[in-house]
Amino acid sequence: MQTQDYIAIEERYGAHNYHPLDVVLTRGEGVWVYDVEGNRYLDCLSAYSAVSQGHVHPKILHAMQEQAQKLTLTSRAFRNDQLPLFYKELCELTGYEMALPMNSGAEAVETALKVARKWAYTVKGVPRHKAEIVVAANNFHGRTITIISFSTEPLYRDDFGPFTPGFVIVPYGDAEAIRKAITPNTAAVMVEPIQGEAGVIVPPEGYLRAIRQICDENNVLFLADEIQTGLGRTGKLLACDHEAVRPDIVILGKALSGGFYPISAIVADSPVLGVLRPGEHGSTFGGNPLAAAIGRAALRVLVEENLAENAAQMGAYFREKLRAIPSPHVKEVRGKGLLIGVELKPESGGARPFCEALQGRGILAKETHEHVIRFAPPLVIERQTIDWALDIIADVLK
Ligand SMILES: *Cc1c(COP(=O)(O)O)cnc(C)c1O
Repeated sequence: MQTQDYIAIEERYGAHNYHPLDVVLTRGEGVWVYDVEGNRYLDCLSAYSAVSQGHVHPKILHAMQEQAQKLTLTSRAFRNDQLPLFYKELCELTGYEMALPMNSGAEAVETALKVARKWAYTVKGVPRHKAEIVVAANNFHGRTITIISFSTEPLYRDDFGPFTPGFVIVPYGDAEAIRKAITPNTAAVMVEPIQGEAGVIVPPEGYLRAIRQICDENNVLFLADEIQTGLGRTGKLLACDHEAVRPDIVILGKALSGGFYPISAIVADSPVLGVLRPGEHGSTFGGNPLAAAIGRAALRVLVEENLAENAAQMGAYFREKLRAIPSPHVKEVRGKGLLIGVELKPESGGARPFCEALQGRGILAKETHEHVIRFAPPLVIERQTIDWALDIIADVLK
């Protein structure tokens, strides 16, 4: 079968909830992926940062194979010998006292919201079912009904109500707007340190520090959705580290498994995460031994291979060279580490045709929000590969 055959079957039988580029991938290794025709591409999306460690990383693969032969799922009704070590290693790496594992990113966001609400009722003393959570416009936190209830993207939201109440939306990047939105019933503020899906929107310097301060002054929890920005992507372990800010709950996913398996988690200290009692929250697959073994290996690779440091260096280089491209189409190059957005001018016809042109030249990138091309390759990328890509990008943006 060839590309068109696979696409025809997918279009016939699959729900049309995505609009993928017409490339059918069959193999990946490091920063490269290969399609069914044998063409090679540089992966500049990394599955939205899930494959930060590179495709099919041998150490994570080994951990997965070893564990898959021993024990894959116990449910949390019984204990297993991998989860305790995953907890310990994740907490030690991130500097938090406790963790709670889930599967998808959206589930980890839901978990953080539930914990914040319970904390508000049992610790802060907010009247029951009155808790408010402040979020930012143009956020992306996932696709559950509660999460899309506070999305500002009509496509994600409009046909899916009725919605979950209890959320207050303020403009992103404006700390004073958060301060004004806080009431005695506010449980938490939740933001992405950089808004990835919104088009790699970097907030003004000091925004995260200001949120931390506002939360401290008002006895409100600061929830950072680091599912895309965390685990080295922006050049630090967490994007909040750029401002030396420690959120009350950090939400992780994506690269937590190196792309092998859906693994997400929240980390927090015991006064916050300790509010949960047995039975109040859970997931059949969350914290299973296979996931825990994969997660442990994925974290080890991040540390052993200095991937945050490489993201900082390669990201700075990539952005500098992208800015130097003499293109009539580019409005702005922005980002941190290897989370990079190239915003095109409104009159350039959208990012999609450029992404299709890049695909034809061996680079896979995905447009986000109409006019932005996101470049977020695996963090293992080397300078010579970036140089190779830059020549092509310059040509396509001519
Ligand atoms: C991808 C993403 C999510 C949702 O994760 P899923 O695994 O797709 O549910 C939530 N927040 C951010 C910032 C993300 O990038």
